[in-house]
Amino acid sequence: MQQDLIYDLLIVGSGIAGASLFHQATRDGASFGRVLLLEQFELMHSKGSSHGESRIIRVAYDDYHYSLMATKALEMWPSVKDFENFFVKTGGLDIGQLDDENVNKVAKVSKERGIEHEVLIGAQLRQKFPQFTGLPDDTLAVYSPEAGILNPNKIRTVLLSDYDHEKHSIVEKERVESIIEGEDDIITVVTSSGKRFQTRKLSICVGAYSKKFLKQHFDLDIKFEVLRMCYVYWKLTEKAVQENVLTAANSPIWIAWGLDPFSDRPLDLAYYGFPEWEKKGYIKSATHKVFGDLERGFDPDERAQQIDSNQERPVEKEKLQAMQTYLKKVIPEGLVKLDESYEELINEKDRVVTCMYEMTPTEDFVIDYIPTKSGKKNISTFLGGSGHGFKFGIVVGEMLNELMKKEVSIDSSFEVCSVPREKFSINHIL
Ligand SMILES: Cc1cc2nc3c(=O)[nH]c(=O)nc-3n(C[C@H](O)[C@H](O)[C@H](O)COP(=O)(O)OP(=O)(O)OC[C@H]3O[C@@H](n4cnc5c(N)ncnc54)[C@H](O)[C@@H]3O)c2cc1C
Repeated sequence: MQQDLIYDLLIVGSGIAGASLFHQATRDGASFGRVLLLEQFELMHSKGSSHGESRIIRVAYDDYHYSLMATKALEMWPSVKDFENFFVKTGGLDIGQLDDENVNKVAKVSKERGIEHEVLIGAQLRQKFPQFTGLPDDTLAVYSPEAGILNPNKIRTVLLSDYDHEKHSIVEKERVESIIEGEDDIITVVTSSGKRFQTRKLSICVGAYSKKFLKQHFDLDIKFEVLRMCYVYWKLTEKAVQENVLTAANSPIWIAWGLDPFSDRPLDLAYYGFPEWEKKGYIKSATHKVFGDLERGFDPDERAQQIDSNQERPVEKEKLQAMQTYLKKVIPEGLVKLDESYEELINEKDRVVTCMYEMTPTEDFVIDYIPTKSGKKNISTFLGGSGHGFKFGIVVGEMLNELMKKEVSIDSSFEVCSVPREKFSINHIL
């Protein structure tokens, strides 16, 4: 890393978007001579959204274009070194009540796109997947065999190490504090320790930190919300471990949409879960909705400080108990220890983990140029992973790479997977 060099591309942020762009832009034959990535914390920190050992990847989607992108992602991930170490195919289930909008859309898009899938209702589902025997007769499910699990920590380790170290650089623990657009097409980036880096192109991949970042550096007020989510590791019983009932080899990932089938409360439910894979003896489940205002609109910098001083507010009791009750009703008795108290769960290290969702109003990503004072198309951004961005990382990296290599018009589609540029326009959040 040299401060007197002019880089061809400077990337801010080492989450999955920044890491994937770095990977795509530094591959052999890529058009950037020198690329630099700056990260404010150590590379494998947990103060963003890309940490952990499992993320769902699925092609059965309730949206045509995301389904298309996910198919492309499944084609592209194997090009990354050690792919077999960070992916497992499990198949996936989308579950809801018969008239659930999301599950019906998943079935529709899968049919339109000719994706292999199976529609299962009530008893058919219970018969095929005895892990879900508690689900009632009016359950609609779409099973897609292509779904699986990606390991974020392993993927990012490869993306951020498999490059030509003579040409390109990664600098951690340097926070971008100022961005100066020069008249000569050169952008100067100044970091927290006073270092100055010069670059021709800049890509900003700062996840949940985007709202403050775009206000501070470009005076943009974006419609964007940060939510705190959590996931929980549930202990398997000895019987489940010995009989391998809930392992990745024989149990799919699942997403439960819509209303809670066991509650007369109008509880908006979206839970999802993973079989035993990342941690021997545990399955994992998570929530996709917040349970109250406490988890909305907080400042990622404050959360980062709380994590550093071990003072993060524990996850709400009602939230954990609702998830526990749901699992108790769905999974047959005797496989998972679902009687642990809130205190036991919260007090055991790494049983309940928090993470941030960064949501745009439509839950669509933004992959676009940033409108700058000069009007030049030399600064791009990815933001709004909105709880489902990880799986697309490798495709998002290539989309940003396309934007940075040459000016791409808003009327065109991304070459990598034929999604119209308009879908991910920054205008949606301005
Ligand atoms: C609990 C949870 C479960 C999820 N499950 C799934 C799933 O199953 N499947 C799926 O596909 N997706 C899932 N997602 C979504 C996915 O993980 C995110 O969309 C994705 O990781 C976002 O990546 P990112 O690179 O945009 O942001 P981040 O990972 O947050 O990276 C941004 C980086 O920018 C750095 N940065 C910020 N400001 C600065 C600065 N000033 N200077 C330098 N660096 C800076 C940050 O430190 C951070 O490292 C989940 C997310 C969460 C939270």
